[in-house]
Amino acid sequence: MAFTDGLTGLYNRNSDKYVQKIEKEVEAASSLGIDAFYTEELSLPFDVKAAEVFENQAQFHPRKYILSLAEDIPGEGSYIFEQTRAVDYHEGNPCTVISEEGSKVIADYLIIASHFPAYGSNGFYFSRMYPERSYALGVENEDEFPGGMYITAEDPGRSLRYTPYKDNKLTYRSRRAP
Ligand SMILES: Cc1cc2nc3c(=O)[nH]c(=O)nc-3n(C[C@H](O)[C@H](O)[C@H](O)COP(=O)(O)OP(=O)(O)OC[C@H]3O[C@@H](n4cnc5c(N)ncnc54)[C@H](O)[C@@H]3O)c2cc1C
Repeated sequence: MAFTDGLTGLYNRNSDKYVQKIEKEVEAASSLGIDAFYTEELSLPFDVKAAEVFENQAQFHPRKYILSLAEDIPGEGSYIFEQTRAVDYHEGNPCTVISEEGSKVIADYLIIASHFPAYGSNGFYFSRMYPERSYALGVENEDEFPGGMYITAEDPGRSLRYTPYKDNKLTYRSRRAP
């Protein structure tokens, strides 16, 4: 698995109105035993008004992580079914999942981890969904990116992080409301 270390920060660049919110966020994190601190200086190439920083956070490569997990899963009654869309579920003992092609998967326990609601049940979760759009840009910098992962408190949010590529690579992402 590929982990990269660095500071992780929630920062506020332009507006004063988030300074207090960031201070409160640090207080809340600290009260929960999360190692966070407040600063007005980050090693980014621009000024910030306030930032909450978490140390010892890890950034990992999701594909490398999932590939090694997928190698370990099959066997001893465990299976991975790719390209298989679940279209219906029956709770019970055992539970049944029905695929688009009509195949059935039967198991003692069923965990639905589809992120977007794939099962209506009585929660009408689908009706609470809304679309969001992000733009991502991968840039090779002249200056070396200081490392770490950063996201703005302001809206629309922007996040900055790097992934190893040649000497360094900076990814800049802007997120906008629908
Ligand atoms: C642009 C972007 C950037 C992000 N950056 C970060 C970040 O830097 N750090 C961070 O922590 N998080 C980040 N996130 C959020 C993170 O990606 C999600 O929170 C995380 O992937 C959710 O994981 P999950 O396993 O719940 O769902 P997912 O990763 O969405 O996995 C759900 C899986 O279920 C499958 N599925 C759905 N419906 C069905 C069905 N009916 N039958 C079968 N399979 C189905 C899907 O194909 C998918 O493979 C980002 C998200 C986006 C969109």
